[in-house]
Amino acid sequence: MFSINKILRENIKKLVPYSSARDEFKGEASVFLDANENAFGSPLEQQYNRYPDPLQYKVKKRLSDIKGVPPRNIFLGNGSDEAIDVLFRSFCNPGVDNVILVPPTYGMYEVSANINDIKINKVPLTEEYQLNLEGIAEAINDHTKMIFICSPNNPTGNSINRDDIETLLANFSGLVVIDEAYINFSRQKTFIQELTEYANLVVLQTLSKAWGLAGLRVGMAFASEEIIEVMNKVKPPYNINEASQELALKALQNVDQVNGWIKEILLQRDRLVLTLKDFDFVLDIYPSDANFILVKTTDPKGIYNFLVDKGIIVRDRSKVDLCEGCLRITVGTPAENDILLQTLQNYK
Ligand SMILES: *Cc1c(COP(=O)(O)O)cnc(C)c1O
Repeated sequence: MFSINKILRENIKKLVPYSSARDEFKGEASVFLDANENAFGSPLEQQYNRYPDPLQYKVKKRLSDIKGVPPRNIFLGNGSDEAIDVLFRSFCNPGVDNVILVPPTYGMYEVSANINDIKINKVPLTEEYQLNLEGIAEAINDHTKMIFICSPNNPTGNSINRDDIETLLANFSGLVVIDEAYINFSRQKTFIQELTEYANLVVLQTLSKAWGLAGLRVGMAFASEEIIEVMNKVKPPYNINEASQELALKALQNVDQVNGWIKEILLQRDRLVLTLKDFDFVLDIYPSDANFILVKTTDPKGIYNFLVDKGIIVRDRSKVDLCEGCLRITVGTPAENDILLQTLQNYK
């Protein structure tokens, strides 16, 4: 069954991580002459002359309270995109290992695999946008290190059946990475609570979507302590800058505001679906557990260009397999959604 030593790269097993000045002295002191910082300060109102906490303890402590997971089970990345890259670099040998992707899905898994020279075995989702478990079982070989599952899935919006994911977790001896970037909008519950059950589980979440902090670049990975330790060893030492740590900590006090937005976004999503489905050019709208909807249309390119002309940008996904004819539309503010719907009244 799963054993971290069986999937770790040899060079990472042996890696002696970079030891920063902040790692080597952690006690209280008043004169810090150990890191070649500018002791006079920063030419700003806010002072950023000191290196930030490499392990972001305060942010993790607050996340731990919100998520119910100890800080030792949390990794923070410069966006969850960095967590994805760190997973590749920790576990996959370039030119040798492979990962399983289940398209249509988030594009960064493939890009990150390509950057790291990791082979990709694609097992497309079914017509219902669910896992093809038989296909996945056939695609797994001795060099398969990870399977990426995005749930709720981008760009389709649906959640992946929980039982199917659990079948993979119970039977695959590599990592099952569940990307929950859109979990705050979902009726399904997170997999974070299963960390004690499955040693090969990695859950990704982010502050970029529901939390409204895409510009800060803070993503999270939740996993066993031994996986998190490896990821911390491999990441750049100061991967979350001081400004992002301070602002993330502040934002994480405002749970109620975020929950209010989530409710409003779900109402607006329902409204978009109800109105859009009556347009002649709309063939189908897929059920969404996210803050966007995938809309199958008669003329994706035409509608896309029409909207661009009016200053409205949606995402054309019509070239993606299993998404023929589809546009992906993010739920905006009520005023933005008004503009979208009014503009579409005038299409053809
Ligand atoms: C937006 C998104 C992310 C977020 O990435 P960050 O680097 O944290 O901004 C991750 N996964 C999926 C599926 C996404 O759609």
